Amino acid sequence: MAAIDSLPPLRDVIATHGLSAKKALGQNFLLDLNLTAKIARQAGDLTGMDVLEVGPGPGGLTRGLLAEGARKVMAVEKDARCLPALAEIAAAYPGRLDVIEGDALALNVLDRLTPPIAICANLPYNVGTELLVRWLTPEVWPPVWDSLTLMFQKEVAQRIVAQPGSKAYGRLAVLAQWRCEAQIVMHLPPEAFTPPPKVGSAVVHIKALPKPKFDADAKVLERVVAAAFNQRRKMLRASLKGLTPDIEARLAEVGIAPTERAERVSVEGFCALARSVAKA
Ligand code: SAM
Repeated sequence: MAAIDSLPPLRDVIATHGLSAKKALGQNFLLDLNLTAKIARQAGDLTGMDVLEVGPGPGGLTRGLLAEGARKVMAVEKDARCLPALAEIAAAYPGRLDVIEGDALALNVLDRLTPPIAICANLPYNVGTELLVRWLTPEVWPPVWDSLTLMFQKEVAQRIVAQPGSKAYGRLAVLAQWRCEAQIVMHLPPEAFTPPPKVGSAVVHIKALPKPKFDADAKVLERVVAAAFNQRRKMLRASLKGLTPDIEARLAEVGIAPTERAERVSVEGFCALARSVAKA
């Protein structure tokens, strides 16, 4: 297959810049540029879009995003050792790659980009879920981003797309599915990474809907869902009793049995309950 750009192969980049993978930074690199271009394509047509990438590392996915036509990529990387490799990519794509050294959990860089915005990343596993929850719970909706295309451990990806009645269904599924369409678009075996992680991975594509599927106040819904799944094995009348003293009446009003357990309540059911709790 043709090279996606004129830069050196990623194995050479890693050797030249001494980028031995650090476990503490969740470093499992993708070295196959055809694979990183394929992941970038899962984000949809990037032409005319700004892209936020978290954790570019040696830049395999970054190169995929640029080769696929992103107007601009802003890449936030915590490991300063990666900066010289990323500077070479920036030089090959003049004016299209901004690299910011820092911790993505401590920086808010989304407001430096111009919509339409896509977020695409092979996330460090230790910070992936926290970043996802932040992106899914902005103060206003629709969010500043159009879509999230993110690599997770397979088990986390399954939690995002899980349906009620399954073990994987929980807070992440409700937050992701309430006002987004979320689907798993690729599966990757451990051997796709260097070094290989212990478990398989999957890419999730999450598209923001213009408005939520069901009305609810975001803060109330988040409180209801957090309380319900914090004690997921308990009946809802017990796990939610701290929310409002008349929780049994609220549950009855929306047709949910007080003896029901959180993992069997649909996203629509949680939204109805949040509306009822909000007016209590
Ligand atoms: N995108 C590269 C690839 O696909 O080969 C690297 C992916 S690797 C799984 C995760 C990357 O995130 C590493 O480069 C790591 O240094 C970086 N990273 C870890 N924690 C970070 C944080 N809090 N903020 C920004 N980058 C971080």
